[in-house]
Amino acid sequence: MTPTLAAVAWAFGLVAWVVVRVPHQRRARKTQVARSAKTLQDRLALAAAAAGLSVVPITFVATGFPAFADYTFQPWLGWLGLFIELAFLWLFYASHRQLGKHWSVTLEIRNEHRLVTDGLYRYVRHPMYLSFWLWAVAQFCLLPNGVAGPAGLVGVAILYFSRVRHEEAMMRETFGTSYDEYARHTGRIIPKPW
Ligand code: SAH
Repeated sequence: MTPTLAAVAWAFGLVAWVVVRVPHQRRARKTQVARSAKTLQDRLALAAAAAGLSVVPITFVATGFPAFADYTFQPWLGWLGLFIELAFLWLFYASHRQLGKHWSVTLEIRNEHRLVTDGLYRYVRHPMYLSFWLWAVAQFCLLPNGVAGPAGLVGVAILYFSRVRHEEAMMRETFGTSYDEYARHTGRIIPKPW
């Protein structure tokens, strides 16, 4: 693995992300929202994730900025990054497919919203957010730059920690004891072995 190949692999991940997401975004626009819990804080957190996972690394890959933060590329880390990126894409694709019309980019409950508890959701409550963590780790492994590499981790941390409690509160208000029961048997992003 070379730095150029690693940058290409990173860019491939971004393009594949767009290809998976766009049809869901189109469908979501047509599905009616029953209630919304979206806030300015959530929008800012989304913007932070978008900056860390796209704006900052795109700038680095396209222009080399900020070159002062470059460090030596490790081929083994590049291969590891590619492997983690493939895991991210599979998880992202599968969680989108399993959540189906219940997916929203922000915190929303749709008309005829059903609590999904099968597939990946049988093990963890947030497989899509887990995929974002993997994406951020892959970016860190693939881009040998002290700003662009960890930018995704910072963005995903902001989104995850500012959102996950609010999302679960919204789900609890909507689905009541069914959600409590579901949460008892699942982890947030790491499956509960017990
Ligand atoms: N946190 C989930 C989903 C992210 S999309 C994951 O990481 O996979 C965010 C939207 O998904 C929320 O607005 C909520 O309405 C919906 N959602 C989250 N968990 C859900 C579930 N188990 N069943 C149905 N909808 C869910």
